This record gives sequence, C-alpha cells and structure tokens, in this order.
Amino acid sequence: MEKDTNSWKEHHQSPVRGQKLDAQTRCQHWHSDLDIIAIKFACCGEFYACYQCHEALAGHAAQQWPTAKFTTEKAIYCGACHFEMTILEYMESGSRCPKCTAAFNPRCENHWHLYFDITTY
Ligand SMILES: [Zn+2]
Ligand SMILES: [Zn+2]
Ligand SMILES: [Zn+2]
Repeated sequence: MEKDTNSWKEHHQSPVRGQKLDAQTRCQHWHSDLDIIAIKFACCGEFYACYQCHEALAGHAAQQWPTAKFTTEKAIYCGACHFEMTILEYMESGSRCPKCTAAFNPRCENHWHLYFDITTY
C-alpha cells in the first residue's frame, strides 16, 4: 500500500485559523520573529492567529475568557512547538514558551483585554 503524503499533511495541519498564516502561526497582521502564538477564542473555541484574523474570518463578535477559566483553559498555542498552555501559564511565562523557550512578543500584553477578561484579574 502506498501512502498519499499530501493527504497525510492535510490531516495534520495546525488547528489555527488566520489570514496568510505561516508555519509558526504568524499572520498578515503580526509577523515579526516573535509573533508565533495563536489564541483560542471564548466565543467559538477556535484558535486564531490574532484578534484581527478572528474579526475578518469568524463572522461574529469576539468574546473574552472569564478569569475563572485562566487556570484551566488551554487557550494559547505555541507556533514553534505546538504546545498548548493555559492562559495563566502564558501570562506568567515571561514572554517565553514554557516548553520550547521560544520568545513571544511581549507587546501582546497590550492586547490581552481583547482575549481575556482581565478587568477583574
Ligand atoms: Zn469566535
Ligand atoms: Zn492576524
Ligand atoms: Zn513552544
């Protein structure tokens, strides 16, 4: 039996959605060396490269994760090693992947309120 390598790849692509994604989940909007994470949205449970990709592709308003989910919801995806971490693990990571130590963009912190309900955190 011969294996069809193309279909194998199709079934093992990353779960992340976004516009012009590269292999490490950089998108059209955020594409520096550090922009390698994707975030799962509370509204649809889907990973997107960024909030702008969600806005363009999801067709509904984004919702933020409530603080009660910060320790349990693996909502952050490392595009370098495909590790999924909880929101709290990400917030306490010091802008590095806890698994592969790849550097994350520290300026993402400015956008946390778009993904997480940090008003009461
Ligand atoms: Zn959504
Ligand atoms: Zn994007
Ligand atoms: Zn990683």
